Amino acid sequence: MRDTLFENVTAVTMDGDTPVRPDSYVLVSGGRIASVTDSPPPDFSGERIDGRGKVLLPGLVNCHTHIPMTVLRGYADDYDLQTWLTKYIFPVEAKLDGRCVRAGALLGIAEALASGTTSFTDMYYFCDDILAAVEESGIKANVSRGTSLFSEDFSFESHPGCVEMRRLHREWDGRDGGRIRIEASIHAEYTSNPKLWAAVAEYAAENGLGMHVHLSETRKEHEDCIAKYGASPAAILDRYGVWGTRAVAAHCVRVTGDDMDLLAARGVNVAHNPVSNLKLASGIAPVPALLARGINVALGTDSVASNNSHDLFEEIKTAALIHKGASGDPRAVSALDALRLATFNGARAQGRADECGRMVPGMDADLILLDFDRPHLVPCHNVVSNLVYSARGSDVVLTMVRGRILYRDGAFTTIDLPRVRRELEDYVLPTLFG
Ligand SMILES: [Zn+2]
Repeated sequence: MRDTLFENVTAVTMDGDTPVRPDSYVLVSGGRIASVTDSPPPDFSGERIDGRGKVLLPGLVNCHTHIPMTVLRGYADDYDLQTWLTKYIFPVEAKLDGRCVRAGALLGIAEALASGTTSFTDMYYFCDDILAAVEESGIKANVSRGTSLFSEDFSFESHPGCVEMRRLHREWDGRDGGRIRIEASIHAEYTSNPKLWAAVAEYAAENGLGMHVHLSETRKEHEDCIAKYGASPAAILDRYGVWGTRAVAAHCVRVTGDDMDLLAARGVNVAHNPVSNLKLASGIAPVPALLARGINVALGTDSVASNNSHDLFEEIKTAALIHKGASGDPRAVSALDALRLATFNGARAQGRADECGRMVPGMDADLILLDFDRPHLVPCHNVVSNLVYSARGSDVVLTMVRGRILYRDGAFTTIDLPRVRRELEDYVLPTLFG
C-alpha cells in the first residue's frame, strides 16, 4: 500500500481540548498515522491529497446498529416500538436468509462508508453473512449474534444463538489483525431470562469478549421488568454478571439514578441512539447525567428501519441539540462533546481506544475527509461547530480505514454497489415483500 500525505488540511485530531490544527500535513504510512505536522515531511514519494478547503477527522464509530436491516428502510414508520417490532419487523425478518442479510449488510456498509463511518458495532443473526460483507468491504466491525430465550428449557451447548456465538468466536474473532472482532450479545432483558444471561455472561467474561445489550429503551420494558423481578433491567442483568466484561448498553432511555450509578461502577459503555429513540417515541436518554457520572457515552444509529439512515452526522447534531432542548441548558452537550461521542468515545466502547478515534501518530489511519467549500459550510468561524451543526454525511469525499481508501468522490473501491443493488431488486425485495 502506498503512503499517503494529506497536505494543507485542517486536521481535527480529537486529541485534547484544542483539537483543531489548520494547514497541517498528515502522513499515513503502513496503514497508520505516521505524523501530524505544520510543514511537509521531507522526501515524500507516495500519493499527495490536496487538503485545501477540506477537513480531516478521525473516522466515525457507530456503536449500535443492525446493519442488514438496511433492506427495511422506510418499510414501517410512525409506530411505537412494540407495534413496530411485532406487527411489522418480526414477520419480515422471519423470511430473511443469508443471501438477503449479505446484500443488506453490503448496502448498509456502503452507506456508512460514504457518510464517514469507519467502524461499527452490530447485533443481528446470520452473522457469517454480515462478517463476509465486513471482510470484503474493508470496514472495521465488532459483530455479535443477538441471543434470546423465551422458555425455561435451556442448554448452553445446544441453544442456536449460543452455538453460533461460540463458533463465530473461534472462526472470526481477530480476523485481519483485529479489524474484525466478535462480541457476546443478549438481545434484551425482555426477550430472554436468567438462564441465558448467566451462561452468556460467563462465556464472555471467561473469553474476554465484549457484551452488547439493549437496555431500558422504553418505559414499558423498564416497568415490566420491575414488576417481574423487583429490579430494573440494569440491576437484574448485573445480578447475573452481564456487566462483568466490557459492555455496551444501547439506549438507556429509562435508566434511573441508581441504574446510572451502577453502570458507572461497572464501567458500562452507553450507546446513545437519539434519532431512533425519537422516531419510535421511546424518549430521550439522560446523556448529561450519564456523562456527569463519568460514563463513556458513544453514538449509534440503531437499524435503518428505525432511523432511517446510517448518517452519524445526523446523530451528532441531534445529540448536541435534544439535550439542550430537554434541559434548558445550551451547554448540556457541547459541539465538541457531541463530536467526541462519535469518535473517541465510540472507539473506547469498542475496546479500540488504543487503535482509533483520535488522530495521533501510531494509531490506525481511520480517517475521513470532508469538503468544507460547500455553501452550507461557509463561512467557517469554528470548525467543530460547522462539523456538528452544519455538516452532513454527504460532505464526506474520502473514507480511509487503516490507510486503505474505501470510498472516494462517490465511488467505492471494495464494494460493487451496482451488483448489490441488482441483488436487492432481483432477490431481496421479492423474497421479503414479493
Ligand atoms: Zn437496536
